[in-house]
Amino acid sequence: MESRYRSADAQRYIDTYAPRHGEDLALRVYTSRLLGQDPALVLHGGGNTSVKSRVTEITGDVTEVLYVKGSGWDLATIEPRGFPACRLAHLRRCCEVQTMTDEQMVAELRGQMIDPSSPTPSVEALLHAFLPARFIDHTHADAVLSVIDQPGSEAICREVFGDRALFVPYVMPGFALARRIADCWRPSPEPTCVILDKHGIFTWGQTALESYERMIANVTRAERYVEEQRTEYSRRTLSGPSSELSARVAPIARGALGRLSNQSWIASFRSTPAMVAFSDRDDLARVTGLGCATPDHVIRTKPWPLVVPQVNPDDVPRLTAALEGALREYAARYDAYFQRGSRARSVTRQELDPWPRIMLWPGLGALALGRSRREAEVAADIYEHTTSIIEAATALGGYEPVSELDLFDVEYWSLEQAKLKKTSAGDGPLAGKVALVTGAASGIGLATVRALLSAGAHVALCDRNAETLEARATELTKAHPDRVTHRRCDVTSAADVADAVAHTCAWFGGLDVVVSNAGTASGGALHTKAGDAAFRASLEVNLLGHQTVARRAAEVMLEQGSGGVLLFNASKSAFNQGPDFGPYAVPKAALVSLMRQYAVDLGPRKIRANAVNADRVRTELFGAGMAEARAKARGVSVEQYFQSNLLGRETTAADVARAFVYLATAEATTGCVLTVDGGNAAAFPR
Ligand code: ZN
Repeated sequence: MESRYRSADAQRYIDTYAPRHGEDLALRVYTSRLLGQDPALVLHGGGNTSVKSRVTEITGDVTEVLYVKGSGWDLATIEPRGFPACRLAHLRRCCEVQTMTDEQMVAELRGQMIDPSSPTPSVEALLHAFLPARFIDHTHADAVLSVIDQPGSEAICREVFGDRALFVPYVMPGFALARRIADCWRPSPEPTCVILDKHGIFTWGQTALESYERMIANVTRAERYVEEQRTEYSRRTLSGPSSELSARVAPIARGALGRLSNQSWIASFRSTPAMVAFSDRDDLARVTGLGCATPDHVIRTKPWPLVVPQVNPDDVPRLTAALEGALREYAARYDAYFQRGSRARSVTRQELDPWPRIMLWPGLGALALGRSRREAEVAADIYEHTTSIIEAATALGGYEPVSELDLFDVEYWSLEQAKLKKTSAGDGPLAGKVALVTGAASGIGLATVRALLSAGAHVALCDRNAETLEARATELTKAHPDRVTHRRCDVTSAADVADAVAHTCAWFGGLDVVVSNAGTASGGALHTKAGDAAFRASLEVNLLGHQTVARRAAEVMLEQGSGGVLLFNASKSAFNQGPDFGPYAVPKAALVSLMRQYAVDLGPRKIRANAVNADRVRTELFGAGMAEARAKARGVSVEQYFQSNLLGRETTAADVARAFVYLATAEATTGCVLTVDGGNAAAFPR
């Protein structure tokens, strides 16, 4: 592993932050980010760092303080305000106390903050205070974990890190760990680093550079050792998985978990060649059942993954039954783990949900699960590193991570649970639901995407205009990271539709809501040659396009087995034709019939179908002079044209979007046409 410290970059941090926060904190931010941005060192909020410095208080007193990472901050993106300053002398005195509860420790840390509005200091703050050096770095580096997650790790550590590394047998993070290190500490000769068995490594230095480069040097030693000692690890054949198969099985797994847990989940496959090779290990269930590579991963991945039984994926009923069985077994195993932990520690805790976050699928890789794609991706990232640690550790001798009881302590530690609350998934009536919208790049489609996102859904945008689609998706991703994906799709192409649905299933794990919106407006008299041609072209988009989307989506929903809703953008023309508008009106009338047929056929399987009838919404369909022409035909101005309805109010795309969101959540409504047109007696549904 190479040092990524560059003097020029360090100087930039000094220039940016030192004037307000001092040089110590500026450099602390710089090397913390260097550590945080390398996933081989720390992942998603893991690890912590500190610097000892001085501040002038309002009284004029100069006080020695510890700036230590605040909980809820991620080293990769930390800012100076992510480091609360605590009075150092008192923290050091706390390390001399013999016992302290978690609540007392947090109270002591918070009580010593110079600014009480700062975030709560890391649970390792006392340990940072105790260590004498100015800069302290702590990581859970993959290579170090590969070396310490095995039997006989103390002897191996001596070989890898030398006699002057202080090896500390596993102890719960927090006060107990600070006490343990205080007890083992020998000031002369000072240890070169601390290795926390089954957990990670601490390095330090008088400068940010010194502490960082010691971290890199020690991790490099571990990497070299792994490289020299491992046997079969690198010789595995790496092959890519079938993404088509992944997209097919993901909804089946997501549906099974949703039914058993009574909750909606987002699922996404992690199918790197290394992950796929790992999922094909003969000893997969045994080796992964041993537990997490470092204790704080337990809150993101649960103690172990679920290993999916080998079943022919084409036999959907058998696969569904096998998945349900495996999930029930997993939950029973988790309950037993919770009971054993509670008994062994004589504690009363509220049991967390007993469902896996990682399903290992032989030959396909890992299916990660979460309440949001963000949560699923965090679990997948962590598990990807876990697999490489397990591969390396088993190649070295054997994988032996922290015990089940140690994992229980951390999973049910109030201070760890607090981390999850900070990052919990969004809410809204459609949280955890996956929606697909066609014609999503503009007009009613785009407004509907926005409304679905506001209601908490994860949304796949489909449109035939690749450029606009890309631009809209990029904008929306900024506002709703991880909840947006997109695929170019022309609904008149069955292949495009199949690809868009498969992409959505691979990305979010399934499909719950479809807004079949794409359409074109085309006029002409049916009794003319031109009108006839327009009619036939319109049928392809305005009727058969909807059928292609609905059919493909229904196939997924049926295999997923957790209901769903098909929503169609019909039109007032379905009930009230305008003159020479047959090419548009006739397919729209048939579309209402299509919707009702789906409602009748799929109602018993809890799949609903509804339509929205909108009229005179200013969208692209009214481009190229269409609005002016239609207004003129009625002898009114364009404004009057859009407001000529019972309410005298122009109908907007957002009005229609709200109707779609309502129908997506209306659990008792199917076969319904909802009118959103400001009131038009001639077009009342009948
Ligand atoms: Zn740690």
